[in-house]
Amino acid sequence: MTITTILLDLDDTLIHNSTDRFIPAYLKSLGNYLSDIAPAEEIISLVFHAIEEMQANQDVAVTNYDAFYRPFLQGLKLSYEQVHPRVTAFYRQVYPELRRFVTPVPQVRQFIADFFEAGYRICIATNPLFPATAIEQRLAWADALDFPYELITTMETMHFSKPNPRYYQEILARLDISAAEAIMVGDNPEHDIAPARQVGLATWRITAAADGAGNGSLAEFHDWLLHPHKP
Ligand SMILES: [Mg+2]
Repeated sequence: MTITTILLDLDDTLIHNSTDRFIPAYLKSLGNYLSDIAPAEEIISLVFHAIEEMQANQDVAVTNYDAFYRPFLQGLKLSYEQVHPRVTAFYRQVYPELRRFVTPVPQVRQFIADFFEAGYRICIATNPLFPATAIEQRLAWADALDFPYELITTMETMHFSKPNPRYYQEILARLDISAAEAIMVGDNPEHDIAPARQVGLATWRITAAADGAGNGSLAEFHDWLLHPHKP
């Protein structure tokens, strides 16, 4: 069966974003922003706890969003109505400042345009631990937001997360395709490559430069997919 669909990871695939720097800065600014409702350190530790609960979720009836908010609100002893507007305001007012931690991957916009031009369907398969606004802002920083993607995986809509293989099965079900029709492109061996292979997807691991088959830069993936017979 031929590949019709490309699953693209976001961070360190479409945009350079060292999670070692980004995540601590993200949590620190969220903790500070919400420090009127609880001490910043308590917010940060509750976020970590709620992320763990979300990643442990195996219930197809519970979205990642609900799996996060349940323990987060319990820990804060506050209602959704008390907390959610503040979180929304954080993403509108403060999150945009985190752009300083990312740098573009050259030619991303052209590569994605070329994939669509060649007839591929595209899913942004970023770990759905974050709300749609956070993911859309990072896609905009990558200059890759305004494309007709089939699906962008977010915490609001998904029920599993990487590295759970069920995350990839859920994508295939939503796109109504078999594993043989899609390829997963991402940088992380444990999150992007191993579980995608486990469910039968082809994979391309983003590395600085090609080192054998099935890996290399986004530019090399683009050339391999669209110009496979180039000498
Ligand atoms: Mg990544």
